[in-house]
Amino acid sequence: MALCWMDGEFMPAEQARINVMDHGLLYGDGVFEGLRFYGGTVFRSQDHLQRLFDSARAIALNIPYSLQELNRAIESLISQSLLSEGYIRLIVTRGVGPLGLDPGQCKKATVFMVLDELSLVSQTVRQSGLSLIVSSVRRIPNDSIDSRVKSLNYLNQILARLEATSAGADEAVLLNQQGFVAEASTENVFIVKDRCLLTPPSSDGALAGITRQVLLDLAQDQLCTREQSLTSYDLYTADECFLSGTGAELLPVRQVDGRALGQCPGPVFQMLQNKYHELVYGAQLREA
Ligand code: PMP
Repeated sequence: MALCWMDGEFMPAEQARINVMDHGLLYGDGVFEGLRFYGGTVFRSQDHLQRLFDSARAIALNIPYSLQELNRAIESLISQSLLSEGYIRLIVTRGVGPLGLDPGQCKKATVFMVLDELSLVSQTVRQSGLSLIVSSVRRIPNDSIDSRVKSLNYLNQILARLEATSAGADEAVLLNQQGFVAEASTENVFIVKDRCLLTPPSSDGALAGITRQVLLDLAQDQLCTREQSLTSYDLYTADECFLSGTGAELLPVRQVDGRALGQCPGPVFQMLQNKYHELVYGAQLREA
């Protein structure tokens, strides 16, 4: 059962209520984080909370809690849930205010969290790999909303996903205005080419993904790693391609725009997935 935390109170998510005058709902004015916990502990909680506070600062939104207070709320939510593994969506909106965009009319940010189990992709697709399309929908340019801001505005990613679904694919890759790969709708993109692990820089429109950084760190002593601009050509001709995200975790890609990739799941994917599992479940595995 999904559980909610709102202003210090815990309740079943279905009983939680949002004011219809909340600017998060009216205008998508707000920021959020998606966190996963394994063995009762949030993976990289400091990184997620720091990114939330940075996103909020970038849009001049004041979070009425400290990072430590939110961390404690997350820990209590997990213990209330009695789950050892799951996902938490932490949302901060501009708050309640009159109609009209003016954020100055919203006196206090609304902060809430929802905890639930989350499995975004079937086990079959997880094993056989995803089929991707390169979407005609472009990533919002960084000079409009910097891609490092994890904002509540996902409409262009949603349009890209609709395009993927109607093309019979599992996921969409969004390019930026210059035609370089930005990211997938809710994951970062990696390719392996000639023993190098490559991923687009956030200046090309990628979220500074936390899983992405973990993978770059894990791969560092095994192969060359680089942030590099990529085009659809690079995806089509990659030795391996895969996606990363907190919700999705690691997902191998089997084809892009109908072009089959050499190896899926490839050796670098498998090596990184093993290391990733060791990292997130490591403490438990060692205790067992
Ligand atoms: N890009 C986008 C647009 C996302 O929403 C997400 C998170 N779901 C990611 C990338 C992956 O980031 P992280 O690894 O920090 O979850």
